[in-house]
Amino acid sequence: MAGLLSLTSPGWTWPGLVHGFLGRHGGVSDPPYSSLNFSASNGDDPDYAKENWRIFKHAAGVHGTTVVTMSQVHGDRVLVADESSGKNAGEGDAIVTATPAVLLGILTADCVPVLIVEPERRIAAAVHAGWKGTLSGVLPKTIGVMRERFGARPGDLYFAVGPSIGPCCYEVSSDIYDRLETQWGQECARAWRPGGKGKGFLDLREINILMIEREAVPQDRIARVGPCTACATRDFFSHRGEAGRTGRQLSYVGWLSR
Ligand SMILES: [Zn+2]
Repeated sequence: MAGLLSLTSPGWTWPGLVHGFLGRHGGVSDPPYSSLNFSASNGDDPDYAKENWRIFKHAAGVHGTTVVTMSQVHGDRVLVADESSGKNAGEGDAIVTATPAVLLGILTADCVPVLIVEPERRIAAAVHAGWKGTLSGVLPKTIGVMRERFGARPGDLYFAVGPSIGPCCYEVSSDIYDRLETQWGQECARAWRPGGKGKGFLDLREINILMIEREAVPQDRIARVGPCTACATRDFFSHRGEAGRTGRQLSYVGWLSR
């Protein structure tokens, strides 16, 4: 994508599909939002955020389409978008569409962005999973909505799990891990490294991948894309890596045509 850092998932080359995990370069926002911040509600000048959206749409060649986002609240509500959704589909943390030219976007700065596609029926989904969304199972709920509403079998889905804070940098209270293990089982231990004083390091990406594997999705349909955001603050916004004062990057996906 001209002038912008945009990571893609290897093999996602179906005609008509557009997707990417944007980095922070190429926008107009000033520090600490520099420069490609997509959020108009995190303290940045909303006019800058608006201009960043324009820059992105132009660079990605999607200026004629709507990118539907949500008011993300760290919950587990899954929204369904179509041509009537407008720019904001409401409160939710996952969004699904089977409508061509309706693109889906989520904003993150450490939380896990997950993009999902089903190439046969041309379905797409985008999920925002921090520890709260992970605990409440926003990702498996999204897979459920894709199956129930649109007939997509989990084994026919492809997943790209994007840039998010890694176990190298995500120290949390053991309490959080205990709740995850109670909810999702002892297998979560593969994503946890206990530290001292009631804390440890959590790999949120791996817990979400564990949930995908449980839906009987083959390994070769699950891609890990991009670095730890807190290690790579030069290229990505990181809430933790920048002490809460930072921008939000966009991850987007959709089918331009049927
Ligand atoms: Zn890190």
